[in-house]
Amino acid sequence: MILDFIPSATREAGLEALMKGAGKFTRYIPIPQPTLLVGAGSSQRLGEVVAGFGHSKVLIVTDSVISKLGLLKGLQDALQEGGAKSVVFDEITPDAPIPLVERGIAFCRDHDCDAIVAFGGGSSMDSAKAIAMAFANPKPLRQLAGYFKGRRSPLPIYAVPTTAGTGSEVTVAAVVSDPSKHDKIVIIDPRLVPKMAALDPALMTGLPPHITAATGIDALTHAIESYVGNWATPYTDGMALAAVGLIFGNLRTCYTDGKNIAAREKMALASTYAGLAFTRANVGYVHAIAHQFGGKYHTPHGLANAIMLPHVMRYSAPSITKRLAQLAVRAKLGKASERDDALADKFLDAIDDLNRDLGIPLYLDKLQEADIPALAKAACHEAHTGYPVPRYMTQKQCEQLIRQVLPPKHDAVDVTAKSQPPKKLP
Ligand SMILES: [Zn+2]
Repeated sequence: MILDFIPSATREAGLEALMKGAGKFTRYIPIPQPTLLVGAGSSQRLGEVVAGFGHSKVLIVTDSVISKLGLLKGLQDALQEGGAKSVVFDEITPDAPIPLVERGIAFCRDHDCDAIVAFGGGSSMDSAKAIAMAFANPKPLRQLAGYFKGRRSPLPIYAVPTTAGTGSEVTVAAVVSDPSKHDKIVIIDPRLVPKMAALDPALMTGLPPHITAATGIDALTHAIESYVGNWATPYTDGMALAAVGLIFGNLRTCYTDGKNIAAREKMALASTYAGLAFTRANVGYVHAIAHQFGGKYHTPHGLANAIMLPHVMRYSAPSITKRLAQLAVRAKLGKASERDDALADKFLDAIDDLNRDLGIPLYLDKLQEADIPALAKAACHEAHTGYPVPRYMTQKQCEQLIRQVLPPKHDAVDVTAKSQPPKKLP
């Protein structure tokens, strides 16, 4: 669940305890599910609904790019027509730091807002959740880190995700960076799940291909890791399978034809379904390793997942052959009547093919051999204290997996070798 959002924080003692308790939390405590509005223009409809709830002043939390592109207009117009005022805090950056979120809290207080719309990618969502909780419980953000630390309910939160990947619109956590301590704090509370989310594909048509690819594979990783992990339930299985089918059917189209509204809508649904799955069934080694790449090299989360996904799945395959076979059938790679091991192989190959078609590199260009033992140690620690991994690996085995994405020494340029057509011999 939330642990998806814990990059470098795993070494912090307080968070370790949280991670150990995470399974109990997600498995036995009901997590609310937002009402979904889906389709082009749904962000405007969300504005109509929010105004209809009688909120008088709504804070929109977003980033400056979204604000400058004019993507807020439909929402703001609808709020105004419905009689609700709105103010925009558009300073959110990736991995928003505590001082920035504190400015957002002060902004919310100065304007006396009574609801928040989170509008953007994962960082805007998380910042909005943190602002909502801290507004209702005025104390330093660090004191709100952990489970149920806010006595009063946060301001009502609504969400408009603008990437199809993180699934933050349906999760229980808010992660905020603490630059002074070089770590992250995680606020966890089921009341942080937005009341309603608008999946508006019209907002996603301008997303650049490389971000479409990375966030899309992040969603795929959420779906796969929740499906093959040991905490999967019939509910999370249904969500994960639906997400995998939609992603294999639509992500390539979104990458090559970004303005395709129908494909964008299906990817938006897929990432939300994957979010509903992993916020309950959690993730695995792909995320555990990707978080270390993010912490050490600032590799974008989705890209780090995409690079590691094929390797972790091949390692895990002997323990999850049947599950991989089921995923292959849902991805329309074969028929259920085929042998499980043949289907599982097809699924593993299909991940390679998808990565290649989306321009995902085979190697992590910044990775250094000397860093590998520490990265593997931290990844294993994160996985073994928090994730229901289907096939255990030792630190040495983890090092070997990471070594597979080490760029070849004398081949620094050709990092996307597999994405190049084979050279024709004269
Ligand atoms: Zn993720």
